[in-house]
Amino acid sequence: MFSLPLLLSAFLPQVLGCADHANHHAPLHNKRQTFNASAALRIPTYWQYDESQDWGKINPNYSLCQTGTQQSPIALLFNQGLSQAHRPHFNGYTANSTGQFYNWGYGPSFTFYHDEGVYDTLPSMEMDNETLYMTGWHVHAPADHTVGGDRSKAELHYVHYDATGRERAVVAIRLDPGQDDSRFFAQFPSPMIHFNDTSSIENMAIDPMQAIREVANFSNFWTYQGSLTSPPCKEGLRWFVARNILFTSVRQMQDLLGASTFSARAEQEVWLHQVNV
Ligand SMILES: [Zn+2]
Repeated sequence: MFSLPLLLSAFLPQVLGCADHANHHAPLHNKRQTFNASAALRIPTYWQYDESQDWGKINPNYSLCQTGTQQSPIALLFNQGLSQAHRPHFNGYTANSTGQFYNWGYGPSFTFYHDEGVYDTLPSMEMDNETLYMTGWHVHAPADHTVGGDRSKAELHYVHYDATGRERAVVAIRLDPGQDDSRFFAQFPSPMIHFNDTSSIENMAIDPMQAIREVANFSNFWTYQGSLTSPPCKEGLRWFVARNILFTSVRQMQDLLGASTFSARAEQEVWLHQVNV
């Protein structure tokens, strides 16, 4: 997961501010649009994924990246078993949820429309008797999490907040090429918006449940207490990583990878993560 607060401060107010106030009730269309790009809309470049071991020393606000006890991502293992605890329920993932498809500077991403500070209109899931709201998704390439030493070509993150606007959970799905088109990714226009093109957006409605269906309804998963996978590496998020891999067609994977650039943080030592507890 990338640091949405950075985006919220630098990026979303302009994108979503527009969406909130101008497009919320406007007819949706899939035509690619360009908004007024400025330096403020760019992902900050003062940290780099290929220097993720140094994040703790480049800014005092990033100290958790070095000293945190529940840093993400971690290596997952089959012999850890799978979790029955904290099982997420996706009843609030409604079809035809509207938002904006764009590129977060490292890969394809999507943000659902919602008024600033209002979360309970978003697609939602239940976890431990609490409702959490999905602000959107993004792709990392290659995958953040390895399983049994194997790293998938990419990883999809569904980012969830609580009603007060705190990041609380990430639903992660590993992506690899297979035989057939993924119906989830078939929802998005191809070719996908390139990582160098952070000024294009496409307004559209999607079914977020489709990716869940494509990993056997998330029936098996690992879960642990983790963090943002980019500065400031804030902790207090519950991670869910699906046991099943979501398979795309080769063409879809090439489209995804062609729109992405390296965005996997180095794996962190397992410490107080309470994997599958
Ligand atoms: Zn992510």
